[in-house]
Amino acid sequence: MKSSEIFNPTLREVPSEAEIVSHQLLLRAGFIRKNSGGVYSYLPLAFRVLKKIMNIVREEMDRAGGQEVLMPIIQPAELWQESGRWEVYGDEMFRLKDRHKRSFALGPTHEEIITTLVKQDVHSYRDLPLLLYQIQNKYRDEIRPRFGLMRGREFIMKDLYSFDIDEDGLDLSYKKMYEAYSRIFERMNLKYRVVEADSGAIGGNESHEFMVMASSGEAEIVYCDKCHYAANVEKAQCPAPEPDGAKRAEARPLEKIHTPGVRTVEDVMHSLAVPAESIVKTLIYWADGEYVGAVIRGDRELNEVKLKNLLGCNELLIADENQVSQVLGVSVGSLGPVGAEFKVYADQEIELMDNFICGANEDGYHLMNVNLGRDFVPETIADLRNAIKGDPCPVCSAELDTTRGIEVGHIFKLGTKYSEAMKATFLDKNGQERPFIMGCYGIGISRTMAAAVEQNHDENGIIWPLPIAPYQLIIVPINTKKTEQMDLAWSIYEQLSGQGLEVIIDDRDERAGVKFKDADLTGIPLRITIGPKALQENKVEVKKRWENETVLIAVEDIVEEINSILSQY
Ligand code: ATP
Ligand code: MG
Repeated sequence: MKSSEIFNPTLREVPSEAEIVSHQLLLRAGFIRKNSGGVYSYLPLAFRVLKKIMNIVREEMDRAGGQEVLMPIIQPAELWQESGRWEVYGDEMFRLKDRHKRSFALGPTHEEIITTLVKQDVHSYRDLPLLLYQIQNKYRDEIRPRFGLMRGREFIMKDLYSFDIDEDGLDLSYKKMYEAYSRIFERMNLKYRVVEADSGAIGGNESHEFMVMASSGEAEIVYCDKCHYAANVEKAQCPAPEPDGAKRAEARPLEKIHTPGVRTVEDVMHSLAVPAESIVKTLIYWADGEYVGAVIRGDRELNEVKLKNLLGCNELLIADENQVSQVLGVSVGSLGPVGAEFKVYADQEIELMDNFICGANEDGYHLMNVNLGRDFVPETIADLRNAIKGDPCPVCSAELDTTRGIEVGHIFKLGTKYSEAMKATFLDKNGQERPFIMGCYGIGISRTMAAAVEQNHDENGIIWPLPIAPYQLIIVPINTKKTEQMDLAWSIYEQLSGQGLEVIIDDRDERAGVKFKDADLTGIPLRITIGPKALQENKVEVKKRWENETVLIAVEDIVEEINSILSQY
């Protein structure tokens, strides 16, 4: 392909709306263009990358026994009503009506459609296991579409669904997918980690996320270098703290103190000169129509996923401050667990705290010397905080560390959640009717492209990993007016593309500096430069995008040299 003919409109300026590197570079290098918030067109170079990602995914899904299908994007409301998710899915679902006023959704995911499909046509254990997948656009009206392709409202996903006879079958399908996913991200040369993930309130179900490591990642990961435990912070358990052996302090009499204007943990620390560890903060939530309060140590972060799972509620929203003060008659900054008019859920650490300070449920007042048990009894005491660096590993007790990643894949044991709700059953060996045991497995194809850039770039642009690069190699003749340079460029071009390599030739009449800059921005992994000096010695320059040095290679050895590099990456 000639550079002069590729449709990749580049930008000189960093677009102001682009906050993270992958978004900036994909826009600047002419890979994507925005149509509306979270909705993008993929230009030719981007589409080449996407096709490479899809091919790797396809090959591994097929190898694991998956069969590709293509299901409708438009999904009738009835199916979602049957599964009970029409209401639950909320505003994230794009909804529409047809001319007969019937309701539909643009598919955010396909459990309902596939369960119906399999229910209609699969009736016997003999037809199981069945693994069906598709690669398709998904639609989610995300609250905050952002970071370009990372969190789109229209995005490309691979979703596979497994149907098995029993739990053992599901375990096997899950293992196959786990291994296939690992191969996929390895084949793309991406640095990734598999972490335990939250699987929602339906207990017992296993779930893992595949994370591409990147400091800009939205997901915080805790991991243990000793035993290889790794989990999304949403999921990571904090082991119950052990009493450190020191004698517990004696409970002192409860005391109410006047604290005008003191609202936050920091305020309390400053005005009373106490550490955050001796303060308990109360966070008030609106959970399926009632107020609940979560109490945790002043220096800790509440884990909303853990609280939501504990409550088993559909919707958990941080309560509106104005409403709280109207309804409960006290402002948010003065809330506390003692004498509370809302249900109190306490983090397990509170049990070990003696004589702590908290809001008094009265504006301008705090309580001192509060003790759980004597002064208040929570509904439940549970693990409610986020794990942090230095916490003990829940498996081996070594110190945990933290890092960040981008969730690119998610595998999930569903069990009979959908098959029971939608009455999707088969006849087992004994002629007994049983619900399918299901699993679902997603990969964000378009998000993976962005994640690859997030992980592989420098100040000059993208550095595509070879297996997913739009083109593998670019040939840059320094001066397109010199026939000997152009002749050699075309001759190398023919030889390499003849082997099936994807090659660009920069035929533009531009200065060498401009061509190098563009090649770097676009991220083409290998570059062959043909210049007058080297040519005198019958040599050309080879440069890997991810290294600084260039090497001189004899013209007659160039094809072999390129093949040797390609075989290493
Ligand atoms: P997230 O927590 O990031 O919202 P999710 O748990 O909603 O993700 P799944 O429903 O498991 O995601 O979807 C499977 C995969 O699809 C995710 O692992 C991710 O790679 C991708 N994905 C999900 N939402 C988006 C989005 N809005 N834009 C791009 N890719 C997405
Ligand atoms: Mg989501």
